[in-house]
Amino acid sequence: MTELTPSGVAALLRGLCPFIIKQINIFSEEFLITRGGRIGSGMGSLLEALWGYHTNKRLSSIEDAHPYEIAWMVDHDYNDFACVHRDRPWNPATKEGEVLRIEVKSMNSGAEEAKAHFDELVGKLRDEDLLLVLVWGWESKDELRFYPKVNDFFIGPAIKIARLRDALHVARGGSFVKGTACPDGCDPAACTHEGEPLNARNSRERGSGPTASKPPNSSLAANFGGLVRMIKTNSPAAASVFRDSRQTDEIAHDYISFIHRNFPKEEKNRYSAAEWREIASLLELDIDKLKTDQIIAKIRDKDPGYRDLLRGLEPQIEPAQDDPSPEKQPSQT
Ligand SMILES: [Zn+2]
Repeated sequence: MTELTPSGVAALLRGLCPFIIKQINIFSEEFLITRGGRIGSGMGSLLEALWGYHTNKRLSSIEDAHPYEIAWMVDHDYNDFACVHRDRPWNPATKEGEVLRIEVKSMNSGAEEAKAHFDELVGKLRDEDLLLVLVWGWESKDELRFYPKVNDFFIGPAIKIARLRDALHVARGGSFVKGTACPDGCDPAACTHEGEPLNARNSRERGSGPTASKPPNSSLAANFGGLVRMIKTNSPAAASVFRDSRQTDEIAHDYISFIHRNFPKEEKNRYSAAEWREIASLLELDIDKLKTDQIIAKIRDKDPGYRDLLRGLEPQIEPAQDDPSPEKQPSQT
């Protein structure tokens, strides 16, 4: 049996993913057929679990069997899965016997707003830990029946997405608690709030944040790490961080492209009319007298690789972002 480095295991799991998603869809089309089918059906959680089952099935059937398997996290640990050594004891508390952890999120492409959040703190993530995001929708089986189908996915190092999320959080005026200056006045050695996100109004964004930062009339401001929301920007500073991250980090670019591919309105709003015109002219499209929506449709039709052009764009005009964020500060409008 071949033992791999942790990053080798991460690469193995990422490489298996396209095959696993196909297997999930084959299984779903055969066994998960339903009449009706609604948003908020819990079907996303079932698809997330199927990733674990099918990955295990594959891992145990690889010829030169890798000595790994996927384990379900116990109790209320944040992550969904751990990749553990097949024949060794595993202790989730000490992480003995495990190689890395995997967080799996699902989003229904028909939902008006993606509700899934990735809000694990950077300090809790190892370099090899993975984030997997599934985008699924109801697919017609016949005239009366449907089954849940995974239409797209992202899998990559969780810490890279966490860093993108955190950089944009700070650019929006947010901050992170330092144990030496905790709003609860904790003894630095005993503070459990280190790294907890606070928004621009100093309200905590996770239930485990400082009690003194609890927003009025609610237990927390639960915006942190919204899978779509985290890449929205509402100020020139945030737009600049977004551009930098997209240009300098391949994983950030992949994630942004994944979200924009599945939520095309987000992509449209992310860039200004002038920027869309610039892309059109790079592609030598005739856009005389066309409206922005028509220009975008033409760009998407002409060149599936246009996101690499968006990535390289050096905008002269700041994107006009329509962000309904409650964090929006008057000074940034
Ligand atoms: Zn504290």
